[in-house]
Amino acid sequence: MYKYLFGPVPSRRLGMSLGVDLVPRKVCSLDCVYCEVGKTTKLTTERKEYILFGKIQEELKHYFDHNPDPDYITFSGSGEPTLNIRLGDVLDFIKKIKPGIPVAVLTNGTLLSDKAVRKSLLKSDIVLPSLDAATEEGFIKINRPAQGIKIDAYIQGLVDFRNEYKGKIWLEILILPGYNDSEKELWELKKAILRIKPDRVQLNTLDRPGTISGIGKASIEQLEGIIDFWGLEAIEIIAKAPERKNNPAYRSDVETAILETIARRPCTLEDIQKITGIHVNEINKYLDTLETDGKVSPVELERGIFYQIKER
Ligand code: SF4
Repeated sequence: MYKYLFGPVPSRRLGMSLGVDLVPRKVCSLDCVYCEVGKTTKLTTERKEYILFGKIQEELKHYFDHNPDPDYITFSGSGEPTLNIRLGDVLDFIKKIKPGIPVAVLTNGTLLSDKAVRKSLLKSDIVLPSLDAATEEGFIKINRPAQGIKIDAYIQGLVDFRNEYKGKIWLEILILPGYNDSEKELWELKKAILRIKPDRVQLNTLDRPGTISGIGKASIEQLEGIIDFWGLEAIEIIAKAPERKNNPAYRSDVETAILETIARRPCTLEDIQKITGIHVNEINKYLDTLETDGKVSPVELERGIFYQIKER
């Protein structure tokens, strides 16, 4: 089993995607209230070689020698990939040995205000940054940033990146009722979108309302209302979980492993990861589908959100 690679997982946006972790779990410049991976344990803007380039190189080489090519390679994982200072080197390495596989980078975008970060991403094929608020107040409320990150510099970093980067930019905005759906916030977000000029805007909301206590998901009608309010081109609502089952990469053995684990006793996301060894991002994707199918349900206990088999 690999330590820094996961999947390929059936990604909603990129097909069958091999994930690469460039930082350990929850090393991030944000601590978003909705984060499905849990609370940020290291809130930082410090860039360093959190996972050694040589280790990632080794695993990628092994993977390519023993597996068919995935549709995409995605730098994502459970922390902020641009915090790894060797990100550009990993990208160069992949492009050298597998030039035909497109590389996508899922990032919170906060470090794009740094010229070196923007430069390191130039060889990627698609960058999917997120932006959930465009006022300082909204940004702090929903994304709880590391010290020193300011919304104006964050947005300006995205604008600068757009001007320097030839690949595609798909901007993801996650709508959380009560956090970033006020008229003022939506208006400021519209202004930011117009400045950033992404190729697409993807509106998202919580997949699973039970992931974090006290917050809820937006309805499709609400998301459609926001699209009407903005009146902009190229905005889409990201496809919902049930579609995933039709994805050829959906693996029933992974689904069974998760179901068997929680059938023994209710588990947190972390428990499931420890027991099955499956990456949290992958577990999350399957939990989405299982919850939509009515097979599992979340329950909030003292130690966090637990998943249990749903009684019928
Ligand atoms: S940026 Fe991503 S990984 Fe970091 S806290 Fe937010 S949702 Fe979680």
